[in-house]
Amino acid sequence: MKPSAFEYGCPATLDDAIALLGSHGESALIAGGQSLVPLLNLRLAPFDFIVDIGRIAELRETRDLGDRVFVGAGLTHAMFEDGVAPDPGNGLMRKAAANIAYRAVRCHGTIGGSVAMADPAADWPAVLLALGAVAIVRGSQGERRVAMDDLLVGTYETSLRPGEIIAGFEVFKLTASARTSYVKFNKKVGAFATSLAVIVHDAANATTRIVIAGAGPRASLLPATAAALAIGIGTDASIATELDALMPETDAYLRHLHQTTLSRAIGEVSGA
Ligand SMILES: Cc1cc2nc3c(=O)[nH]c(=O)nc-3n(C[C@H](O)[C@H](O)[C@H](O)COP(=O)(O)OP(=O)(O)OC[C@H]3O[C@@H](n4cnc5c(N)ncnc54)[C@H](O)[C@@H]3O)c2cc1C
Repeated sequence: MKPSAFEYGCPATLDDAIALLGSHGESALIAGGQSLVPLLNLRLAPFDFIVDIGRIAELRETRDLGDRVFVGAGLTHAMFEDGVAPDPGNGLMRKAAANIAYRAVRCHGTIGGSVAMADPAADWPAVLLALGAVAIVRGSQGERRVAMDDLLVGTYETSLRPGEIIAGFEVFKLTASARTSYVKFNKKVGAFATSLAVIVHDAANATTRIVIAGAGPRASLLPATAAALAIGIGTDASIATELDALMPETDAYLRHLHQTTLSRAIGEVSGA
């Protein structure tokens, strides 16, 4: 199928994009188009006006902020994979980017588009949540900073307000001794995860975050399991309890899969 008719604008700045979004009827942003175009083609998401943010230079900026790095929302997965975009996660971001879809999708799809889409099994929401990143969001009311845990709400749902655009993310730099792990199980190469476990364990900063994606409506932190890992006690019991809370009615296969990806990821950061 082809999309229903829509008007198209291609602003050069973020401010122009925000103004355009607010000045038409039912409007949507398009970044890499990897998720939106299929929705338009299937007429699942009819819009009167499409604002193309793919040529806004400031969305591809990166900035060193001392203890953090700003990465623009318009940076593509391939830019992280190729090392063109910075990786304050000591290789975690690069590894995750390289495992998203396949190269053609990675050359177009963006980190901001992935987070805004909020697929429960997507890679960037899980990785940025594990890194404790903060989204920088711009709209007609100005700028606000939203922690990833507050931005992710549910399946394909974020706390972005109408007319807001993710400008980028601030990601804390991990210390040199920090350990990370990323364990993705998917049914075939290039597919979304059936289960994805991401861990950031930075003892020098007293930070341990464990994230599971594909279990429940959004990527989720497992704080009790992270606390157990941080003090070096067994994590099996807390994994079981936290998975129960996230997905009380899931089948035994999926549950076992999530336990396995989490155990492997914990083994990686513990050096086991
Ligand atoms: C075959 C295939 C396999 C895939 N496999 C994976 C996978 O394994 N893992 C994974 O994580 N993803 C996967 N994806 C999704 C891919 O990563 C997309 O690139 C991503 O979900 C959307 O990014 P985009 O830049 O293309 O966004 P678009 O499709 O352009 O937009 C998606 C949504 O986000 C909104 N949006 C875009 N940018 C912004 C912004 N800056 N601020 C606010 N809203 C914005 C748009 O309005 C739209 O609603 C796959 C996609 C395909 C087609």
